[in-house]
Amino acid sequence: MPAVSGLEGPSSDEEVPDWLAGLGLPGLVDLHTHFLPERVLRKVWDYFDLAGTHYGIEWPIRYRFDEPIRLDVLSGLGVRVFAPLVYPHKPGMAEWLNRWALEFGRTTAGAVPTATMYPEPGAAEYVAAALEGGARCFKVHVQVGGFDPRDPLLRRPWQLLAESGVPVVVHCGHGPLRGEFTGLDVFAEVLERHPGLVAVLAHAGMPEYGRALELARDHPGVYLDTTMVGVAFSERFAPLPSDWADRLVPVAERVVLGSDFPNIPYPYAEQLAAVAGWAVAEERLGIPFLRAVLHDTPARLLGCG
Ligand SMILES: [Zn+2]
Repeated sequence: MPAVSGLEGPSSDEEVPDWLAGLGLPGLVDLHTHFLPERVLRKVWDYFDLAGTHYGIEWPIRYRFDEPIRLDVLSGLGVRVFAPLVYPHKPGMAEWLNRWALEFGRTTAGAVPTATMYPEPGAAEYVAAALEGGARCFKVHVQVGGFDPRDPLLRRPWQLLAESGVPVVVHCGHGPLRGEFTGLDVFAEVLERHPGLVAVLAHAGMPEYGRALELARDHPGVYLDTTMVGVAFSERFAPLPSDWADRLVPVAERVVLGSDFPNIPYPYAEQLAAVAGWAVAEERLGIPFLRAVLHDTPARLLGCG
């Protein structure tokens, strides 16, 4: 028997591989990580360095390494497949990011090709091109992009995604900062208009966890990702409801592992331990839930088994 098994989560990154073996999992599938062209990533890290000013909270990036080392860390943790997500903060950037992310996904072991979009002329064309180019996951960042997800320029792109069945990770919650168009009620209108959309609510809608659960209940294509949810860092400003594990039961098949690696201020193992904590808190979740969240459901969404 491995030293760490089952419902007791790993207490350090080093323990993760044995823990996965104890669960009988071939590895992790992480639907929410970030890789970017080096120059852009440095700018993102510079922003996090000033998190005290931007967010009112210090945010020391734990995995601030060169790209080859970051990839080694993921593989050492047992992450077999991951979605390296990109997103623009201004017009004229998405198409270029997509070219980079499609190429990175095609040429990097474990990565899947991804893409993004922004409300701008040409969005429908480059979204169609990314789908044809093999994108297996999209990211839409309403808060950083500062746009309205209901923008008419996004109608055709949302429709293309709905028709393709390719999942789109949507950061539409108020956390860590409110934006002009953040809030799950705004995104709910997109879901009404595009009922076929496979939408993964990033950070489980943080801090509107209850609303995220409602959207998942009402829309069979809505999933929640675990990114930064339930870890000590987030509990300080966006605590989960005390009956969270109980409320996950009806949507247990629609929760997927996300981490925000490498831009997290704590060890990756903490995210896994948080998910294990939910599994142990509710007997209707247990090990089947853990296996689904950490591997089976995100693998199915990304089309990798
Ligand atoms: Zn993220």
